[in-house]
Amino acid sequence: SATPATLSAISNGAKNGVLVKGGAAMEALNTMDILYSDKTGTLTFGDFQVLDHEVPEDIISEVVYMEQQSNHPIANAIVKSFENVDFGGVDFSEPVEEVAGSGVRKGDIKVGKPGAFEGYRDEKHYFNKIAEGNTTIFVAKGNEIVGYLSLSDQIRHEAVEAISGFQKEGIQVVLLTGDNEKVALKVAKEVKVNDYVANCSPEDKINYILESQKNDKVVGMIGDGINDAPALANADIGIAMGSGSSVAMESADVVIVKNDLAKLLYSYQLSSRLNRIIK
Ligand code: ADP
Ligand code: MG
Repeated sequence: SATPATLSAISNGAKNGVLVKGGAAMEALNTMDILYSDKTGTLTFGDFQVLDHEVPEDIISEVVYMEQQSNHPIANAIVKSFENVDFGGVDFSEPVEEVAGSGVRKGDIKVGKPGAFEGYRDEKHYFNKIAEGNTTIFVAKGNEIVGYLSLSDQIRHEAVEAISGFQKEGIQVVLLTGDNEKVALKVAKEVKVNDYVANCSPEDKINYILESQKNDKVVGMIGDGINDAPALANADIGIAMGSGSSVAMESADVVIVKNDLAKLLYSYQLSSRLNRIIK
């Protein structure tokens, strides 16, 4: 059972916006060697704007209907930006399937990350759109890419200072994102992480964690999405954003209630102080 000092640290953390679920997690927090971080919703707000798009008239209504079935921040942005679409031609009986960290599919229509469209016909050279440096979503019918949407998101500025604080404590901070290389690099530079990996599937995220653990590292993982939940569960210290999905928060040891990463740094420091007292 937790010592009074541990309980007091948990209570102090909670007052400062970070819920640490139990004494073991409170005592383990400052043993972290590496902190992996998701991008969307974690280092950014996950509040996308559709910047630009080119999708055939008869397919955009399908795309919007498909994205209505998803909770992904990109899906929410697409639904919001096409509020007045006419669903007249949509076959609602056909099921929509979501592939976590990739996109959505309905019959022969597929919407999602460029990596899911390798080998598809791309007569209009939509793959070139990625070079513009925005989050780019493709739309395919059968084996042909028939459209794209470009979206942008904003950095959470408190993340920049928090990351530098963790680095001063000797922790490596590494971005793991499902987004494309261009966007990953841009965000990595802005928030100044030690390293980044783009085009990461939810399984890739788990594999990075397991690999670090094999090398005797204590691994923290911070994320917000449904697709981050397995990675959070595999990390030594899983950390969820309060704005995240409930499954992410359930899978985590720590929840940053108001999404302020600076508060996580404060809790880390509480954990350091606690370990000096109890050890
Ligand atoms: P991140 O690691 O940045 O949080 P995700 O793993 O959630 O990103 O998603 C990776 C990529 O998969 C997104 O950048 C997007 O291209 C694509 N994607 C995921 N879900 C959807 C969806 N519902 N609709 C369209 N694209 C999606
Ligand atoms: Mg995310």
